[in-house]
Amino acid sequence: MYHQKTLAELAAMLEAGDVTSVELTQAFLDRIKQYDGELNSFITVTEAQALAHAKAADEKRAAGNAGPLTGIPIAHKDIFCTLDVKTTCGSKMLDNFDAPYNATVVEKLLAAGVVMLGKTNMDEFAMGSSNETSFYGPVKNPWNTNAVPGGSSGGSASCVAARLAPASTGTDTGGSIRQPASLCGITGLKPTYGRVSRYGMIAFASSLDQAGPMAHTAEDCAIMLNAMAGFDPRDSTSLDKAVPDYTADLNKPLAGLKIGLPREYFGEGLDAGVAGVVNTAIEQYRKMGAEIIDITLPNTHLAVPVYYVVAPAECSSNLSRFDGVRFGHRCDDPKDLEDMYKRSRGEGFGAEVKRRIMVGTYALSAGYYDAYYIKAQQLRRMISDDFSKAFEQVDVIMGPASPETAFNIGEKSDDPISMYLSDIYTIAVNLAGLPGISIPAGFSNNMPVGLQIIARHFDESRLLNVAHQYQQNTDWHKQSPDAFA
Ligand code: GLN
Repeated sequence: MYHQKTLAELAAMLEAGDVTSVELTQAFLDRIKQYDGELNSFITVTEAQALAHAKAADEKRAAGNAGPLTGIPIAHKDIFCTLDVKTTCGSKMLDNFDAPYNATVVEKLLAAGVVMLGKTNMDEFAMGSSNETSFYGPVKNPWNTNAVPGGSSGGSASCVAARLAPASTGTDTGGSIRQPASLCGITGLKPTYGRVSRYGMIAFASSLDQAGPMAHTAEDCAIMLNAMAGFDPRDSTSLDKAVPDYTADLNKPLAGLKIGLPREYFGEGLDAGVAGVVNTAIEQYRKMGAEIIDITLPNTHLAVPVYYVVAPAECSSNLSRFDGVRFGHRCDDPKDLEDMYKRSRGEGFGAEVKRRIMVGTYALSAGYYDAYYIKAQQLRRMISDDFSKAFEQVDVIMGPASPETAFNIGEKSDDPISMYLSDIYTIAVNLAGLPGISIPAGFSNNMPVGLQIIARHFDESRLLNVAHQYQQNTDWHKQSPDAFA
């Protein structure tokens, strides 16, 4: 069964001639047809384009020009601009948007021979932790279809967990790769800020947004990151730094690895079942030769409040371009210019996006800018300094990715604060620009639990090595939901 294979296994099968890309692509398209009605993980399925690209990939291989990703089908989060395929960002505002170019991430994966199966559902403009804010309806968690998949890359997580795609792309501004990966039982990597180009990725909060891979294993994420990472002159915050081969260090032994456990990640608010799973995973690392060290990240409690000033402030500025003039939704029969702005934005954006724009505009307005935005930036530095201090002592930091397992659809919709706390362990990593990964570590109440691992800036190789070694010794990443077997 192709769908139960990892990306690395599928690549080997393609290489050995055991399967063609057209067969593989068709198999995943068939699964999407069979199951996605239930999950709603795709906004657009690009069947004809996928089969054409698969055919081209097979020809490329026959001509002896195949790389590790040639002919591998994947799904892209619908935040990445795709030429000739609509890009909605989960919003009514962009329901009619055809991007005139590909995002760099899409372009790079295309150049590597990847076949796009379609565009995945997401929280509107990537604002959310449950995928319930999408204009296209909520996504279901394949482990329990009454539960959310997490967000905002909920469609990307759900389709991989249900084996409708072997891997997908996601974006993470405050946890949107790691939290849904955790809730759906897959592996999701948020790279260092600046490692992967943001060009053509619809902006939410530009100083935090970062794209990354979502797959079954750390090895698969390494293969994906090899193709995704790298300098892009079209992204002013992209770093001109050589991209290592992220698969090279996967098999390094962990003996002597120093793992820091921040006491703030194991306190109040952490579900006991999740804590149990995370502690067992850490015990496994101890058995594998790692040294466990208690550390402190004393400003952790400031991460969520700081984020909810910085991210809305940046989004209020980024989203001002959606004014009904150049592209996106425009209201019918506007009376005058002001009426057109007001109604186009009023109709095009959903409630959560409006809430963020209002909070952000307020925080940036004259008289409040110093008290909120400047203050938040100062605290952001303190949060970042906590990590720098910790990394003088340890090689990686571990803890839960999410304080609880997947909650039910509707459970937190009326309580934004409780929803915002879903990212309490992931947000600080974005504020500090660090790389982080969530890997499947077990189950609590039959729902997946993710272990989060955080490393120094640009130390993705170490992160992937540490995650891969765990996956060599456990099989949580191999579990798949029975209903989608
Ligand atoms: N859940 C967080 C938010 O709503 C993070 C979203 C993200 O990482 N894109 O802002």
